[in-house]
Amino acid sequence: MRKLASIQRIIALEAIPDADAIVKATVLGWQLVVKKDEFQVGDLCVYIEIDSILPDRPEFEFMKNRNMRVRTIRLRGQVSQGICFPLSILPEGTAIEEDAEVTEILEITKYEPPIPACLAGVSKGNFPTFLRKTDETRVQILQKRLDRFAGQAFFITEKLDGSSVTYYVRDGEFGVCSRNLDLVESEENSFWKVARELDMEKKLKSLGGNIALQGEMIGEGIQKNKYKLKGQHVHFFNIFDIDKYEYYSFEEFTKTLEKLELKSVPIVETQYTLGNDIPTLVELSIGRSQLYDVHREGIVLRPLVEQKDPQGRRVSFKVINPKFLLKYE
Ligand code: AMP
Ligand code: MN
Repeated sequence: MRKLASIQRIIALEAIPDADAIVKATVLGWQLVVKKDEFQVGDLCVYIEIDSILPDRPEFEFMKNRNMRVRTIRLRGQVSQGICFPLSILPEGTAIEEDAEVTEILEITKYEPPIPACLAGVSKGNFPTFLRKTDETRVQILQKRLDRFAGQAFFITEKLDGSSVTYYVRDGEFGVCSRNLDLVESEENSFWKVARELDMEKKLKSLGGNIALQGEMIGEGIQKNKYKLKGQHVHFFNIFDIDKYEYYSFEEFTKTLEKLELKSVPIVETQYTLGNDIPTLVELSIGRSQLYDVHREGIVLRPLVEQKDPQGRRVSFKVINPKFLLKYE
């Protein structure tokens, strides 16, 4: 799980050209601007990730004009993601241990974008437990995983900025879920509308099993329609075998989508040898969308053959394009 605030070590400090009061710090795989002389390399600090909402407290007063939300910013040409505080902001008696989470102690919450009207629906229930919610971890906290999987063949897709949708068939029953809810069918709900347009129920049933397709819905009414589309469209990124509780590998995934005449998320590379350098991957994430000439949100990397890490989690992660964050956040 993502830790919004945690105790971390300052891995490196570097000068920023033409700046004498600030320096660039590396914490986890993140780079951010800190005051000069506030930290030394090797110091522990409290690191707070982007998309954190800070509580209304005197020590966070300076964030008031930013609505208390930690965002990606640029200072003296340097992209800065996150904030470092000295350990002294922690309440007295807090156990100081590297990587310990302090989100709750500091009363930090996560920024959630509002749900657009066309996607809000009546829920039939929580997200089904026989499926897995869509989610991607940010590469900046995955140094160990990169070290482990470096050298292996990955594929890269474009990360689209829309809203997650899951279509499933289980024991003959067709269902539609948003990121967190199983939804009752309605004319107004875009997830359901598109399901009917694409004939998803018939297509899923044609596969002859208990199966789910997961994708990103983009278009009118969603995330400011960055790709300037008419109507709503889904680009898929997962096929999940419910009985095996496993995702399809890349080849099987693309073949199945072709057969069903459904679109995948844009494919950026089909053969990419993973390296373990986070800044290189951040650089790679910068680029234009394949759907419209705007900054792409980022990329998602996965091994060509599905893999699990030692904790049993799927190997798949996102790298968000810093130029996208600077423009849209
Ligand atoms: P985030 O949008 O930052 O919460 O990142 C995770 C989400 O990205 C997933 O839940 C998907 O809904 C979405 N997503 C968009 N494009 C892709 C893609 N190419 N591969 C996987 N997930 C994607
Ligand atoms: Mn998203």
